[in-house]
Amino acid sequence: MTSRGNIRRWCVLGIVVSATVIAQAGAAQAPDSSEVVVRAGTVFDGMGAVRRHMDVVVRGGRITAVRPSSGHADVDLGDRVLAPGLIDTHVHLGWYITAAHRLHQSGDGDDDATAILNAAGNAERMLQAGFTTIQSVGGPEDKPVRDAIARGVLAGPRIVTSLGSLNENAGSPDSVRAVVRQFKAAGADVIKIFASKSIRDGGVQTMTQAQLDAACGEARTLGLRSIVHAHAASAVKAAVRAGCTQVDHGVLVDDEGLAMMAAAGTYFEPQCSLVMRNYLDHKEWFRGIGNYNDEGFAATERTIGLRKALVQKYRGVKGLKVIYGTDAVAGAHGQNGRDLVCRVKENGESAVDAVTSATSLSAESMGLGTSIGRIAPGFLADLVAFDGDPRRDADAFMRVGFVMKGGVVYRQPPSRVGASRSYP
Ligand SMILES: [Zn+2]
Repeated sequence: MTSRGNIRRWCVLGIVVSATVIAQAGAAQAPDSSEVVVRAGTVFDGMGAVRRHMDVVVRGGRITAVRPSSGHADVDLGDRVLAPGLIDTHVHLGWYITAAHRLHQSGDGDDDATAILNAAGNAERMLQAGFTTIQSVGGPEDKPVRDAIARGVLAGPRIVTSLGSLNENAGSPDSVRAVVRQFKAAGADVIKIFASKSIRDGGVQTMTQAQLDAACGEARTLGLRSIVHAHAASAVKAAVRAGCTQVDHGVLVDDEGLAMMAAAGTYFEPQCSLVMRNYLDHKEWFRGIGNYNDEGFAATERTIGLRKALVQKYRGVKGLKVIYGTDAVAGAHGQNGRDLVCRVKENGESAVDAVTSATSLSAESMGLGTSIGRIAPGFLADLVAFDGDPRRDADAFMRVGFVMKGGVVYRQPPSRVGASRSYP
């Protein structure tokens, strides 16, 4: 991605950069061991603090110091707002739109290589949008992409994946536990569990308490976290009782379910609008597949109102850990920042709180709270800069001008998210 053209544009802007920190496409990307000073007018530290005119010093892929600006800077981001690399705890890495403009389905003629290449493309889009870590829930194609990115073969975010999911059909508690062990053996980082139907099908609870106890209990025994798709209040409560780590969606949760999550420390991952808008704005990609029909789209439309009501309910719940996840499916990768915009504009959340949710809190939910999600010494050098201040203009979340992951620069000004990449 980095070309002489990019470097030239960079220099035209009068921004000084050490060429050695720019990622070379296709090459293994070992972080530079020399010191790189990144300067920004405003820094969100990921924990709620905002500081002006700071230098972030990076060495060997990690942040070594954060100090007031002075002297030489290798990367001067000017007035841009610098934040920790963003984290999306809920994406579907492998979903994509085929050359025939349809949601990819098994049996549509695309082979495994095509599917993996599309997943790799999705990964790169999300990194370019400022998301340096993503959690994919998840398919088998995630594994080669995750591993290639970790090796530096491909550009992409750090990937945590469930490699698949389980639901009520896993059977008895013993067979549920066996399925969890199979995912672990296959290399899954986390276990994804469907405890309710999709909201298009009413969201009713599908797994029993005994099944959830087995799934989340076995995951815990194996040292894995568990993420539960749950819409019905009863499904949310069953997941909390089972000690599951994270509840996704929760569109139909009641006050008691929210209080239970807060008391148990269960991470809650509601979405704001990206996933619904993606379906409703591109019905032609999905129509006729499964429950993507007029009835299903109408249900999706209705959930926009339900989700707004949910915000009013969960915002008042003390101690509830609301993390960031978009449920990015086919067509939505690279637009992961849209729910930050939505949370500020529609939900009335402050831009700083939205960033904290999408950085340090999401990192904590993934068990990575001591290595990513903060701009502080010792943390991995995952940095993103917005062209504009999202406190005054939430749309700035979609104008990502700089991305560094593990000390390697993947994006530099001037550029806009998605400007040059879209499905045909
Ligand atoms: Zn999902």
